[in-house]
Amino acid sequence: MLKCGTFRCDGPPVKQCDNCNKSLFCENCILVHSSEHLKDNVICNFTEIKLKLSKIDFTRLKSTIKLSIYKIEIQKKQIMNEALSVSCQIKFMVKSAFKHLDEMTEYYNELYKKTEFKAKDHKKIKSIISEDLLFEKPSFSKLEGTLTKNTKNTKNQIKSVDMKQIQDIYDLITEMLGC
Ligand SMILES: [Zn+2]
Ligand SMILES: [Zn+2]
Repeated sequence: MLKCGTFRCDGPPVKQCDNCNKSLFCENCILVHSSEHLKDNVICNFTEIKLKLSKIDFTRLKSTIKLSIYKIEIQKKQIMNEALSVSCQIKFMVKSAFKHLDEMTEYYNELYKKTEFKAKDHKKIKSIISEDLLFEKPSFSKLEGTLTKNTKNTKNQIKSVDMKQIQDIYDLITEMLGC
């Protein structure tokens, strides 16, 4: 957490003073600090805070971002695979439904062309005459998906990691990603 550079002030810093070793100041302390500069007749130079990360944090940030982007790409591939599998299931369902409906049409056509009927057809003919064929509206069970849900685990803070170790991990990731 960034803190205001004034002794015993916990306010969130909003500016840095470039004339004072880039010390950070909160909204309230900016006024106090300006008046101190006025007293000493030195112009204060407040600018946007520019964070400089430690070499370890900088390396960690880069490698974590690269790894996260790599995982996002993997997730996209998995979504595509899952979508293809669902689409295959739907195609299969449609195909078998069409087969069943075509068989029904075929049966009706056969019956339609006939002028004489067999005794075994009698019951079926009676029911066709007395009933309306009604289909339910076709539907697939409601499609829901969890595609971008993720968890962010807090990494264990390593107390003392030497730069060599960090560099090794970074090299390994770079090699894995082929860049
Ligand atoms: Zn200053
Ligand atoms: Zn302050």
